[in-house]
Amino acid sequence: MTDQYILAIDQGTSSSRAVLLTTDMRPVASAQEEFPQIYPASGWVEHDPEAIWRSVESVIRAALKSAAIDTGAIAGIGITNQRETTLLWDRSTGKAVGNAIVWQDRRTADLCGQLREAGHEDTVSEKTGLRLDPYFSATKLKWLLDNTPGARQRAERGELAFGTVDSFLTWRLTGGAAHVTDASNASRTMLFDIREQRWDDELLALFDVPRAVLPKVLDCAADFGETAVPFLKQGTRVTGIAGDQQAALIGQAGFEPGMTKSTYGTGCFVITNTGDAPLKSRNQLLSTIAYRLDGKVTYGLEGSVFVAGSALQWLRDELGLIDSAPESEAVARTTGVVDDVYVVPAFAGLGAPYWDPHARGAVFGLSRGSDRNTIVTATLQSVAYQTHDLVVSMREDGVVPAVIRVDGGMTANDWFLQFLADVLDTPVERPVNVESTVLGAACLAALGCGAFADVAGIRSVWQSERVFEPAMDSSRRDQLLAGWSDAVSRTRGAR
Ligand code: ADP
Repeated sequence: MTDQYILAIDQGTSSSRAVLLTTDMRPVASAQEEFPQIYPASGWVEHDPEAIWRSVESVIRAALKSAAIDTGAIAGIGITNQRETTLLWDRSTGKAVGNAIVWQDRRTADLCGQLREAGHEDTVSEKTGLRLDPYFSATKLKWLLDNTPGARQRAERGELAFGTVDSFLTWRLTGGAAHVTDASNASRTMLFDIREQRWDDELLALFDVPRAVLPKVLDCAADFGETAVPFLKQGTRVTGIAGDQQAALIGQAGFEPGMTKSTYGTGCFVITNTGDAPLKSRNQLLSTIAYRLDGKVTYGLEGSVFVAGSALQWLRDELGLIDSAPESEAVARTTGVVDDVYVVPAFAGLGAPYWDPHARGAVFGLSRGSDRNTIVTATLQSVAYQTHDLVVSMREDGVVPAVIRVDGGMTANDWFLQFLADVLDTPVERPVNVESTVLGAACLAALGCGAFADVAGIRSVWQSERVFEPAMDSSRRDQLLAGWSDAVSRTRGAR
């Protein structure tokens, strides 16, 4: 038999990637391409669906070229995607009726406020595990239906299709034959009942969404459809789909209740596997579908930090204190833990457990001796403190992670990971492959096409590279955390 490969597509917020891997998950080629962000008004963020599609086609072509493999050798395609981003397209032409509304877009904040005031938040969170927030797809879809001329009537006549990015890409890859999504992406739309595993009539009525626009929801490893595009062999199957954060949990082999992953990219996203029942958070964390395999749902508890790696980009691009993000490690090593200065990077408000959209960033405790190194190190520390606050919320919800598996660009920083373990008082484990999102999509595709018989296959390819053990004494930790807590409270009082 000839060698077989998996094609993993990672359609992210700022770029698209394609990675070719062997069926035992060794990457052989990859390509990445950025695409434009569109900001039509304050708080609005859009993507051109054609730009997304072109970038995906282009990275697939580039990865295939660099691997020099025959397209017939692709056993299955996996897709992972920026979640919640909302598209609406014409079923007959495949053309979107307008730009995609990106997850970061806040244009429906007032609508969410009105629905909250009308008392709908409890129903929404009970059924979907989410908060009534513009972040999720439902109000974005309503906006597209209400503000695109003719769209509502056409949707009701069954002429339009809604989807998150995974769904749009699968539609395009299959030449319009498949209008599908997976349960993890469906769970981020705010239209899907995560217990009953179905689109919910009451939510569809609340958000004014006609059922005719909805995709079919499948397991994360399934037969999503066969390709009908010139750059891939006809009939290649799409066999795995998951939203980016859920894909990272899968790539980290987080298959047991209590297993936790934390991804450090632009922001930081923590998901804990909570097993076969969704957990109702008392701290406004989200319950979500972690994955659905063989019809069996596994739930996750999720929290996020808005500013993680992007704080380092701020030091580099706005303050000019470092030339590159990796330089922060050498700086922190020479400086050591900073205990008098706190950077609170609340550039876009504070997430869990504070949920304060009005908080803004600040630096506290500066003295005449504070220098560039102090600020750089304190910024790295702030990412660990914010993770601590999330993990405390999870602990209060009854989830106590024994180990945190980390991935993403920032995890190249050993100093940061040691400080994180110290602050969390929990071991932090880094895998050999820190590209967990892509790996998760590839693993699902391998599962869906039969290259893996079951999740044991995924467990067997996950490899630990290093464990950072907590080594800070508790009085020191308490003192640092008290200083952080004081600094955070001052960013809130500052309004
Ligand atoms: P995304 O997928 O969100 O684009 P990545 O996983 O590629 O993010 O990670 C990129 C982020 O990681 C950037 O925000 C960058 O500032 C940060 N980063 C990269 N290397 C380091 C490092 N050695 N130390 C600290 N931060 C880093």
